[in-house]
Amino acid sequence: MSRFMSKAYARLDAYTPGEQPQNLSSFVKLNTNESPFPPSPMALACLTEAAGRQLRLYSDPTGRALRERLAKTYGVAMENVTLGNGSDDLLNFAFMAYGDAGMAYADISYGFNAVFADKLGVKSEIVPLKADLTIDPADYCGLGMSILIDNPNAPTGEALSRKAVERVIAGNPDNMVIVDEAYVDFGAESCVPLTKKYDNLLVIQTFSKSRALAGARLGFAIGCKDVIADMELLRNSTNPYNINRLTLSIGEAALCDPAYLEQCTQTIMENRAYTAEALKGMGFSMTNSLANFLFVKHSEIGGLELYQKLKEKGVLVRHFEKERIREYNRITIGNRQQMDVLLGRITEIINERRACACGREA
Ligand code: PMP
Repeated sequence: MSRFMSKAYARLDAYTPGEQPQNLSSFVKLNTNESPFPPSPMALACLTEAAGRQLRLYSDPTGRALRERLAKTYGVAMENVTLGNGSDDLLNFAFMAYGDAGMAYADISYGFNAVFADKLGVKSEIVPLKADLTIDPADYCGLGMSILIDNPNAPTGEALSRKAVERVIAGNPDNMVIVDEAYVDFGAESCVPLTKKYDNLLVIQTFSKSRALAGARLGFAIGCKDVIADMELLRNSTNPYNINRLTLSIGEAALCDPAYLEQCTQTIMENRAYTAEALKGMGFSMTNSLANFLFVKHSEIGGLELYQKLKEKGVLVRHFEKERIREYNRITIGNRQQMDVLLGRITEIINERRACACGREA
């Protein structure tokens, strides 16, 4: 760090993203919840056109065409939609916009939440999950500050019903409720329909997971007109061209292919059930994940040990050094072949451990 860095930011403890090895052929990569499938062929087809001569021009700072398409897809008006460079961009704006009285969120939730709060000087009210790692909506009533719920939660994958989230929204009429729905397309209920009923709700989603476009960096948020105007004010005061031309085109094309989204998410849900069953048979317990990952712990092998042994065997999963969840690993659901490699490696690890234990006893 240079001598000139601002004191206000020099002390930041930045977000640590999951490992992103560039030698992809060496790993089965199940650590950052990407899709194992390519983006929709319709999204890819528009790339050559978007990547042509028009790149000399700035992108549309209003993102009109994509916002109109999103509005149509989600049954709202264009004024109810804003765009982000990934949903991280939108979470950052949400902390800026609604952090004055503090932000309440779960002790086990998306790791970036605490980083945004710290960077922006927003007071965090950390609400512990219940012993079974689920959220109790009653814990979020009467706190007198904004509320952020990841639904499904990360990294547990546990989801609240729309009704349960509505209780939190209705119970806090004078505070903003932000619902991060990064993983909603894998079987949970979206709160987007509630944005028509409540003026204190902002729903954030991403193209990174279900639409297989993590590398394009595209997120969107839906809320009432005034809430979206807040987000637009911050976006236009930060970077009005936050979505580049290529991404605007790809996003629009991806929305024109709902059948592909359905096919990908269905396959992930099937692979999730298949992997969960197999892991249970090997002595794992897990949360009830409705996301594109499982959050699992083994009765004999510690969380860090499993992470390290899998990595040695070429399978990357995500381990978090956090007291309450240190025995767990988060495993992204990939295609069936990737899941079989994972299961095979775990079987080897368990057998090697047992052989070692027998050796010691003999
Ligand atoms: N919210 C949650 C809960 C996440 O897990 C992630 C992905 N790490 C994000 C938001 C951000 O995703 P992106 O910026 O790729 O849209």
